[in-house]
Amino acid sequence: MIPFNSPPIVGTELEYMQSAMGSGKLCGDGGFTRRCQQWFEKNFRCPKVLLTPSCTASLEMAAILLDIKAGDEVIMPSYTFVSTANAFVLRGARIVFVDIRPDTMNIDETLIEAAITDKTRAIVPVHYAGVACEMDVIMALAEKHGLFVVEDAAQGVMSTYKGRALGTIGHIGCFSFHETKNYTAGGEGGATLINSPELIERAEIIREKGTNRSQFFRGQVDKYTWHDIGSSYLMADLQAAYLWAQLEAAQEINNRRLALWNNYYKALKPLQEKGQLVLPTLAPGCVHNAHMFYIKFETSEKRDALIAYMKEAEILTVFHYIPLHSSTAGEKYGYFFGEDVHTTEESGKLLRLPLFYNMSNAMQQAVISTLKSFFA
Ligand SMILES: *Cc1c(COP(=O)(O)O)cnc(C)c1O
Repeated sequence: MIPFNSPPIVGTELEYMQSAMGSGKLCGDGGFTRRCQQWFEKNFRCPKVLLTPSCTASLEMAAILLDIKAGDEVIMPSYTFVSTANAFVLRGARIVFVDIRPDTMNIDETLIEAAITDKTRAIVPVHYAGVACEMDVIMALAEKHGLFVVEDAAQGVMSTYKGRALGTIGHIGCFSFHETKNYTAGGEGGATLINSPELIERAEIIREKGTNRSQFFRGQVDKYTWHDIGSSYLMADLQAAYLWAQLEAAQEINNRRLALWNNYYKALKPLQEKGQLVLPTLAPGCVHNAHMFYIKFETSEKRDALIAYMKEAEILTVFHYIPLHSSTAGEKYGYFFGEDVHTTEESGKLLRLPLFYNMSNAMQQAVISTLKSFFA
C-alpha cells in the first residue's frame, strides 16, 4: 500500500533526542529549542521565533497578542484548516470569509478591501500548498486601514515571496511541524514568528502562562510573576531535538520534495494538454517548497471516481477542505462576504497525491502509472 503521507525521518533524530534526555532538561526553552529558534531567525531573517506545541497554538497566541475581542472581525479564506478560524473565534471574533483565486487556491487579494469594516482588526492570509499569497497587496491594505496581518504559513516553511521567507512578512507568522508538514517536531509542533519588534516582549509573556519567566531566565529581572493573560505555549525540548535533526537536513528535505513535485508535474503535463486534468499554477515571485502536489478535475464526480480507482490499487489520495463557511461552526461564527464563486466549486475538484520525503521513486512511479491507466 502507498500511504498518502509518512512523517519525514532523516536518521539523526534519535541521537539528538538521546542528547536532550542526557541534558537534564526536557521542558520548554532548552538547548534544542534555542538552536531551532536561532536557525529560523538567522536563515529566515526574523527578529523573534518562538517554538510552540502546534500551529494551532501559534494562531491562538497571535489572537491573544493582538487583543482580539468580542465583536472584532477577522478576514480570511473559507478554504483553510479549522484552526485558522478557531483561534480568533476563541477570542470572540466574527470571521469574514473571502473568496479564493482558482489558480493558487489562496485568498483573492482583490476582494479583501470591500470586506473591511470599522470592526475589522486583522487579515489572515493562508499560503496554500506553500505558494505565497499576494503579500504586497495585502500588506498595503493593512497599512492603509490600520490592520494586523497574521500569516498562516503552516504549509509554507522554506517558501519565499519576492525573496522573503513566508511567515516573516506579516506582523506575525505561524508555522506547523505536524507530521503531515514538510518538517516535523516528532509528530506535532509549531512556531510563532514575531516580525514586529514591539510585540516580542508580550509574546514571550503570553507563551509563558502570562508570566515574565523568559526575562527572569535571561537575568533581566530578579523574580517572575503573573503579568498578563497567557497559556502554556512552549514546545518540549525532546520534540525540539527531533525538529533540530530535520532543520539540519532542511535543504536536503526541500530538494527531495521538489524533485518529487517536478516528477509529477512532468509526468502529468501530457494529461493537462489533453484537457483531462489541471496542474497547480505557480504565482510569479513565489518560490514554493513542494508542500503538496494537487490536481484538479472538471467535476467532483470525476475526482471521486479517481480516489476510488486509486484506492483499489492501494494508493491513498485525499481531498480537503470542506469550506469553513458551509460547516456548522462556520455558519455560526462567521459569514461569507460577497459571492462564493470559486471556494466551493474549486474545493470539490481538488485531489492531493502522495508526496513525502521518504517516498521512493518506485512508489511515485506506481502512483503515476495508476493515474495514467485511469485516464487511458
Ligand atoms: C496544518 C495546518 C494548520 C494546523 O497546524 P497544527 O500544527 O496541526 O496545529 C493550520 N493551518 C493550516 C493552513 C494548516 O495546513
